[in-house]
Amino acid sequence: FDDRDGSIWFDGALVPWRDAKIHVLTHALHYASSVFEGERVYDGRVFKLTEHSERLVNSARLLGFEIPYSVAEIDAATRQTVAAAGFADAYVRPVAWRGSEMMGVAAQASRIHLAIAVWQWPSYFSPEAKMAGIRLTWAPWRRPAPDSAPTASKASGLYMICTLSKHEAEAQGYQDAIMLDHRGHLAEATGANLFLVIDGALHTPAADCFLDGITRRTVIDLAKARGIPVVERHIPPEDLAKAQEVFLTGTAAEITPVSEIGEHRFTPGRVCETLVADYDALVRKG
Ligand code: PMP
Repeated sequence: FDDRDGSIWFDGALVPWRDAKIHVLTHALHYASSVFEGERVYDGRVFKLTEHSERLVNSARLLGFEIPYSVAEIDAATRQTVAAAGFADAYVRPVAWRGSEMMGVAAQASRIHLAIAVWQWPSYFSPEAKMAGIRLTWAPWRRPAPDSAPTASKASGLYMICTLSKHEAEAQGYQDAIMLDHRGHLAEATGANLFLVIDGALHTPAADCFLDGITRRTVIDLAKARGIPVVERHIPPEDLAKAQEVFLTGTAAEITPVSEIGEHRFTPGRVCETLVADYDALVRKG
């Protein structure tokens, strides 16, 4: 991924892609003192840019550091990077981290860095192709409790168990894995939130120990606008037996219908179709 043409915004200016490098004694590499975002560009515009920039700043504060740029400055830097790349449909990856001035658990004097990269991400699937649904298995790891980790932060360290779970799922031929929370309730996939359709209503795990996704909130609003009731609650895994449709939501996943979780089978149907179409219309509208 590092050997390509293009520019990356790095601590205040665009630098050549191949030159966007850091030292091996970077605190973030050793102690996971980094936070990031994932954003999508549709028709040249970043969808919900300011919400993402705000979440980045907040994620850093939850890890005890302040990004040395305001939300407005991060928005502007992101727009500059997207414009320089010139892609109509793309993915944006801002990342902020503690630098290499101190080596040890404590790193109060470390410099805080910010980089923003953009790469091409066309929409691969037509809404029809998506409707087949993806196959998921159970993750071997649970989402930690909010008093065990800063679970509201999009912190790199929280992805250790996601990578482990995703690798195990893919090794078994599944596309992704569903993680339970610390209580044993349904939580989310390794990089996307979870929704169940039960008798015409949307049920989604209450986001009290994992990321309350920007797509999750968007889909809740779209559903309410359609008159679909939305219930945010603690959902035991057995409730999957009551669900007619299941889907994932996320910036990268958008709305991805699910056909299988463990022993449960689902047939993506009218609710998935409606929300996929509404989401597509919304992101293209800007
Ligand atoms: N949960 C996790 C673990 C994620 O990585 C993501 C993707 N950022 C989400 C949920 C969905 O969040 P969003 O809709 O803001 O992309």
